[in-house]
Amino acid sequence: MRRELFEEEHEAFRETCRSFITKELVPHQEEWEAAGVVSKDAWLKAGAQGLLGTAVEERFGGGGVDDFRFNVVLDEELIAAGVTGFGAPVHNDINVPYLTKLATEEQKRRWLPGFCTGETVTAIAMTEPEAGSDLQGIRTTALRDGDEYVINGQKTFISNGINADLVIVVARTDPDAGHEGISLLVVESDRDGFQRGRNLEKIGQKSQDTAELFFNDVRVPAANLLGEEGQGFIYLMQNLPQERLSIAAASAAGAAKALEMTKEYCRERTAFGRPIGKFQNTRFELAEMATEVEVGQVFVDRCVREHLKGELSIDNAAMAKWWVTEMNKRVVDRCLQLHGGYGYMLEYPIAKAFLDTRVQTIYGGTTEIMKEIVGRYLDI
Ligand SMILES: Cc1cc2nc3c(=O)[nH]c(=O)nc-3n(C[C@H](O)[C@H](O)[C@H](O)COP(=O)(O)OP(=O)(O)OC[C@H]3O[C@@H](n4cnc5c(N)ncnc54)[C@H](O)[C@@H]3O)c2cc1C
Repeated sequence: MRRELFEEEHEAFRETCRSFITKELVPHQEEWEAAGVVSKDAWLKAGAQGLLGTAVEERFGGGGVDDFRFNVVLDEELIAAGVTGFGAPVHNDINVPYLTKLATEEQKRRWLPGFCTGETVTAIAMTEPEAGSDLQGIRTTALRDGDEYVINGQKTFISNGINADLVIVVARTDPDAGHEGISLLVVESDRDGFQRGRNLEKIGQKSQDTAELFFNDVRVPAANLLGEEGQGFIYLMQNLPQERLSIAAASAAGAAKALEMTKEYCRERTAFGRPIGKFQNTRFELAEMATEVEVGQVFVDRCVREHLKGELSIDNAAMAKWWVTEMNKRVVDRCLQLHGGYGYMLEYPIAKAFLDTRVQTIYGGTTEIMKEIVGRYLDI
């Protein structure tokens, strides 16, 4: 089905993304996967190409267009190229709204120029060892002391955790006030008491630096509070739909890519004297997957349209997140099967896609939590 989401300027941006990824990211994949982290230089180059902060105002060095389709284009191109470690989706899709919608003019001046050049890599730290799905269970505290907040606690599974220069930290400013005691603090990585832990070893997305972060009496000025004290949980609820849409969009692209490479494989690989694509079972497998990929893409594109109007509902974002990521997982698994033994070999891109995809149904809110959200809106 011809997609109707994009205009000419998005397609032009797609070309820019594609050539940047081909030239600057793809050649370093192996080196970065071995290192478990993408080089900072790549961030600077992405910034110089205008790929960071398209939605940030021009006066801070951003693209000046708050149009989520540009984010989707970059996400799709990264996935299509098999580049899953470069954390631009976290930086652009997840963190931008916090820094553009909640930050004061003074904070924007401090943080956004570096954000757009790539000098300031960002992360967002919600999850803790004892609290992931249940965000209200976080224990990290940020207690007011004069003109400062003193932060203590531990975060884990933080994307861009090793490269991050700036971390949006979810913490309790009032330990006794339940979700009304949660606030967002921005922590620069050179603050005393801020420590990175392990760069966690994962089964996929090997060049993505997913790390533990520790906060031991980290003092930040009160001017690093994002938005209002006690409103952090509400801000998260407001911004999580965009995060989930970003993951769904990447998953739709991931499923489409896996299908494309598998069709190619089924044309070329022969068994019993004919291409394996000629077996009815293979055609049925591919037909079912092609259908699911189309259905998922249409729903994602419609959600993006709703989001452009500011009308993406929490339950529709949750539907897109769980259904499209589960579809992505199913599709890469079935595609791997059609590759036979070669599908199990890491030198085949489908094997890497299988490993890289597995997390899609987990981060950004698990499938189970997404269904809980959808269920809440069913009025039963
Ligand atoms: C690679 C990676 C990158 C990540 N990046 C970030 C990041 O940048 N920042 C960040 O803050 N976090 C990040 N996360 C954390 C991620 O968001 C959490 O792992 C996720 O939300 C699940 O939390 P958990 O791991 O604590 O699992 P748990 O919450 O312990 O869940 C365990 C299981 O129980 C199920 N479960 C829990 N509650 C319910 C319920 N009410 N009903 C039914 N089932 C339930 C879950 O669905 C899951 O299957 C990342 C995780 C990974 C793996």
